[in-house]
Amino acid sequence: MLNFTVGPVMSSDLVRSIGQEQVPYFRTKEFSEVMLENENLIKEFAGVEENGRVVFLACSGTGSMEASVMNLFTSKDNVLVINGGTFGARLVQLCQIHSISYTEIIPEFGYDITDDVLKQYDNKGYTGFLVNLDETSTGVLYDINRISKFCKRNNLLLVVDSISSFLCDPFNMKELGADIMITGSQKALACPPGISLIAMSERAVKCIKQSRVQSLYFNLKDALLDGERGQTPFTPAVGILRQINVRLREIKASGGVESEIKRIRELAYDFRCKIKDLPFKFASHSPANAVTSLFPLTAKAFDIFTILKDEYNIWVCPNGGEMRDKVFRVGHIGNLTTSDNTILINAFKDLQKRNII
Ligand SMILES: *Cc1c(COP(=O)(O)O)cnc(C)c1O
Repeated sequence: MLNFTVGPVMSSDLVRSIGQEQVPYFRTKEFSEVMLENENLIKEFAGVEENGRVVFLACSGTGSMEASVMNLFTSKDNVLVINGGTFGARLVQLCQIHSISYTEIIPEFGYDITDDVLKQYDNKGYTGFLVNLDETSTGVLYDINRISKFCKRNNLLLVVDSISSFLCDPFNMKELGADIMITGSQKALACPPGISLIAMSERAVKCIKQSRVQSLYFNLKDALLDGERGQTPFTPAVGILRQINVRLREIKASGGVESEIKRIRELAYDFRCKIKDLPFKFASHSPANAVTSLFPLTAKAFDIFTILKDEYNIWVCPNGGEMRDKVFRVGHIGNLTTSDNTILINAFKDLQKRNII
């Protein structure tokens, strides 16, 4: 199987070998050490300030999105949300469910937002800003420097869903003044799904410690407290956290976050060059490194996904809803190489020969 989806993705041999081992008991000094190292490496790779923190939750990325919204905002807040696709819509849904006033900014399909759009919201009493840095459903990367400047001048809490952009596109929390960065184990971390994490600025930690969130599992105060000694309030996904540990060490050993971003950027670039002569149009005008979203010009997107899966054992990523037949995506995260890109391109060429595309 060759997996070009955007998660779960292909894991390295070392990560897979950990998956084969028995899962150890976790209230131990040994497991605490793994967790503290995980926190420190994430802090390093995400540019978290010294007094910032990272908590790991046993849930998918959406769980950490919900926990962040619940712990940082209340009905007294008024937030801005960029809603450019499926994941932006999820941020809007979270505000609705938790009775947080919000204004949504809806960019044109496939485009970033502009300074002129943001300017309209200056000095309007907003308290927070929520964005999916890479809106994975369209492959649009928003300009985080632009958003960061806007948030700094308006003193907004900045919550960034980086679920598919962490390790793929440059992001330094401290420099950007970002308060929350969320990611999940099954995207560029290239581990099985089941763990998501929330990196926090010092300001976010303070807010969370004072919040009166009505939840047992998603109240992050105990997670912060127990995390100080490398523990979690509830049983974590122990095996995945051990896989995350070897993966983070692998990244560190091969040059750290910059090298990993470069590797993924080059893989994306290689694919985008190779696909130029095929009957597809790029759907994103601000492409994220993690994924290339494509409009097929001569076939239905979902049919391409199905045929590649059933007849070539290659997985690309289908879209849902009204985009099902219009767009599919090719991921560049996980344990992939430029020769894997060539295998996919050759499969497309074969589809062309068979008059399927
Ligand atoms: C994958 C993804 C999510 C959802 O993560 P789950 O782990 O499926 O809950 C949210 N936001 C973005 C930007 C994503 O890419």
